[in-house]
Amino acid sequence: MSEAKRKFGFETRMLHAGHIPDSATGSRAVPIYQTTSYVFEDTDFAAQLFELKQYGNIYTRIMNPTTAVFEERLASLENAAGAVATASGQAAQYIALSTLLQPGDELVASAHLYGGTYTQFVHTFKKLSLTVHFVDPADPMNFEKAWNPKVRAFYGETIGNPKGSVFDIEAVSKIAKSKRIPLILDNTFATPYLCRPMDFGADIIVHSATKFIGGHGTSIAGALLESGNFDYRHYPSIAEPSPSYHNLRFYETFGHYGFLMKARAETLRDVGACLSPFNAFLLIQGLETLSIRMDRHVQNALAVAKFLNDHERVEWVAYAGLPDNPFHALVKKYTPKGPGAVFSFGIKGGREAGKKFIEALQIFSHLANVGDAKSLVIHPASTTHQQLSDEDLVKCGVGPELIRLSVGLETLEDLLWDLDQALRATSR
Ligand SMILES: *Cc1c(COP(=O)(O)O)cnc(C)c1O
Repeated sequence: MSEAKRKFGFETRMLHAGHIPDSATGSRAVPIYQTTSYVFEDTDFAAQLFELKQYGNIYTRIMNPTTAVFEERLASLENAAGAVATASGQAAQYIALSTLLQPGDELVASAHLYGGTYTQFVHTFKKLSLTVHFVDPADPMNFEKAWNPKVRAFYGETIGNPKGSVFDIEAVSKIAKSKRIPLILDNTFATPYLCRPMDFGADIIVHSATKFIGGHGTSIAGALLESGNFDYRHYPSIAEPSPSYHNLRFYETFGHYGFLMKARAETLRDVGACLSPFNAFLLIQGLETLSIRMDRHVQNALAVAKFLNDHERVEWVAYAGLPDNPFHALVKKYTPKGPGAVFSFGIKGGREAGKKFIEALQIFSHLANVGDAKSLVIHPASTTHQQLSDEDLVKCGVGPELIRLSVGLETLEDLLWDLDQALRATSR
């Protein structure tokens, strides 16, 4: 009885939320429902499903029982009302924003964004007649200044790529509320273990679950989540009758699930970027150990950042966990356990030294990913951000000397040894 009311702890929910042992088989692990479709009980029931008058499975492009466990579990960990899983983080952003925005609408976004998000916003959104204004997130007032009546959402990253800036969620949320628009945060680098943006006023969260949530570099995946607190009554795309769903009013019909229902039943249905049940299963395995991995990730990251800070071959280190970092005060408020394990530093000797360093590393893998259990490294100016002009590079805070690390779970002394020998190689 009392258990029904008990709010279980984060770790308990990592392991149990969204799933009870399978009633047919007793399977303790979440089964992989590797199916495209589901037999309807009868024709009336089928009709009700298609009308969204009944909740039930139709087709795996829209929902799947394995994926549903992942969605519910992640929603529980983020203190969200619900979640929709997607094929990738890029798809999560696209589905969230194309559900909200209509041609001619505008978005104000932090300039400290993942490179792929930046190109999606600038190039793909332009084709949809959407305009994105980029602002320096270090001063929340920049969101107020960039606002105009066509702006229908604010967007940022809890921990911004690639310089590790921490987003002042509460301050920007206040401005968003005064404009009656949602604040959307990409919580990929923090994960719900290090920060729960909805506790500070964020309305929608997007994730690249490819990173720390999956945690082992095996699956591309994403998710979008809704807080259930945003009032969409004055928000046309969610409140007004939908011509693609027999004039259904999503907010009136589904209330606090209105945005997510529309994202699933319309946008995911039509865009088709759904998660595979097998990948959902792998993400569930990742969530089960999230807190333990993140504790070690941040512990190793802080030690690596301190080591680099004292190294003679290093120009600067941008890890908000270091006390002299300009975002350190925000770390105490938003990510008190540590600001993640992805950060960058500047190597002495610029572009050439950067290349030598990466080639000399033995444990860190040179690749375009973050958030693996293994340590990773990349030189953005020659890889992820190479499409950007020099001017855009500086806007995104990525100079030619910048090296980005994703600190993994290896033995700390081995990581420090590897970085040291590779840094020394750059002076030879
Ligand atoms: C990787 C990443 C994305 C894109 O996610 P994919 O799963 O690669 O599509 C978006 N935002 C951030 C912060 C990321 O690190």
